[in-house]
Amino acid sequence: MRNEMEIIFDALSDNEGFARVAVAAFIAHLNPTLEEMADIKTAVSEAVTNSIIHGYENLQGYGRPGGEEDNGIHKPNPGKVRVCCALEKNILYIEVIDSGKGSQDVERAMEPLYTSKPELERSGMGFAFMEAFMDDLEVESAPGQGTKVRMIKKIGVGGWIEHQC
Ligand code: ATP
Ligand code: MG
Repeated sequence: MRNEMEIIFDALSDNEGFARVAVAAFIAHLNPTLEEMADIKTAVSEAVTNSIIHGYENLQGYGRPGGEEDNGIHKPNPGKVRVCCALEKNILYIEVIDSGKGSQDVERAMEPLYTSKPELERSGMGFAFMEAFMDDLEVESAPGQGTKVRMIKKIGVGGWIEHQC
C-alpha cells in the first residue's frame, strides 16, 4: 500500500521547523530509530533551507508576482516550498520543490564545501549531509525554473538491540 502526503508553505525560515516535524510525524507510526528520525529531519531541513535561502534568496523577490502592498511599497512574495512524501512499506520518498531561481550547475552545487553564499557563512555542506544521511539523492534544477530534490530512505533496517539480560 502507498501512503502519500503533501504540504505547501511560504518560503520563510520560520517554516523550516514545521516542515521537518511534519515529515517526522508522517513516518512516526513506523517506529523509526532515533538515528533514522534525526537523519530524515536533518535532510529535510537542509533541502527546505536551501529552497528558502538560495531558491528564493530569502525573500528577495523570486516568489510569484503580486505580493501584498504595504504603505504603497510592493513587498516581494515569499514564494512557496512544496514537500511531498510517499511511503511504500518501509521506504520513504521525499521531494522538496521550489520554483525559485534554480541552479545552472547542479554537479558543482552538490560538491562538498561549495557554496554560492560564503558571505552568509554557509558552509556548503547541505547536499553532502543529504547524501550521507539518506539512501539516495537526486537533484533537478534549471535557472529560473526552480529546484527539485528527491531523497529516499529505508526505515527500520537497523539491527536488533543487544540485551544484556
Ligand atoms: P550550507 O547548507 O552548509 O549552509 P549551502 O546551502 O551553500 O551551505 P549546499 O546546501 O550544499 O550548501 O548547497 C550548495 C549550493 O547549491 C548553494 O550554495 C546554492 O548555490 C545551490 N543551491 C542549493 N539548493 C538550491 C536551491 N533550492 N535553489 C538554487 N540553488 C540552490
Ligand atoms: Mg544548504
